[in-house]
Amino acid sequence: MSSLNPTIDDAQIASLLAYVDTMVWRSHRTRATTIDGRIAYIRRGAPMNPVGAANRKTGTAGTYRPVGPSCPPTCPYLGQGCYGQGGHCNRAQRRASTDPLLSALAAVAASLATHGAPIRLHVTGDFWLRAESRVHVEYIDALCIGLEALRSYDGNRPQIVAWTYTACDLAPEQLADLRFAGVSVRRSGVQAMVHPDAPVGTFQCPTQTGRVANCATCRLCWTTTKPVNFRPHGRLAQLEKPCTP
Ligand code: SF4
Repeated sequence: MSSLNPTIDDAQIASLLAYVDTMVWRSHRTRATTIDGRIAYIRRGAPMNPVGAANRKTGTAGTYRPVGPSCPPTCPYLGQGCYGQGGHCNRAQRRASTDPLLSALAAVAASLATHGAPIRLHVTGDFWLRAESRVHVEYIDALCIGLEALRSYDGNRPQIVAWTYTACDLAPEQLADLRFAGVSVRRSGVQAMVHPDAPVGTFQCPTQTGRVANCATCRLCWTTTKPVNFRPHGRLAQLEKPCTP
C-alpha cells in the first residue's frame, strides 16, 4: 500500500477485496475464450470504470480514467489534441469516474481477463486528482491492493502485470509501491517521447516500424529502461510541437 496519506479506509479496502474475491470466482467459471467475453462475464454485477478488450496496438486489455479530472494541469494537450478526447477512447473515458475503487476494479477485471498478461492501465487519464490538485494516492493504494490480492490467489502471476505512462511526478514511494504490485510506469516526456524522429538515446516503438504486431508481443516498455519514442499519429500528428503519450 502507498506509504503516503491520505489513503482509503478499512471499509473501502474490505469492499474492494470482496469484489476481487467474486471476480476471481467468476474468472474460474467463465467459458469465454476471448478477452472481451471474459471481461463481460467477470465484471458482471461489479461497479467499475470502462475496460477495453485488446486493440491492434496493445494486444491486451486496457482501462480508462476520465480525461481532465484525472490529468495533471501540466499536460498542454487537454482540449488541444489529446487522443483521449476523440473517437472510441472519448466515449469510454466519458463514462469513467475518478473513484479509486472503480478505477482499481477495472484493472483487476482486465488482469483476470488476460490471465495476468500485462494490461495497459489508463489508456486515457492519469494518476492525478484535479479536484484536489494532487496525486490520487487513494487510487494508487486501491490499485496496488487489488493487484496484490490477485497474487494471493495465483502465485504464478508474472512479475509485471500492467504498464502505463504518466505526466505526474510520482514520489519514489509511490513508484516503488506500484512496482511491487506489478505496475511498470514510464514518465511521459522523460521515458516516453512523441517526436517525428526518434531522438538520440531513445528507441522507436516497434509497432510503428512494423517489427512487432503489438505491445503484448513486444514488451519493451516494461523490460527496458531506455526511453521509447512514438511518432505522432492521429490527432497528435496535427500538432506542431512534440508531446507526450
Ligand atoms: S515499445 Fe513495445 S511495449 Fe512499448 S508501446 Fe511500443 S509496442 Fe508497446
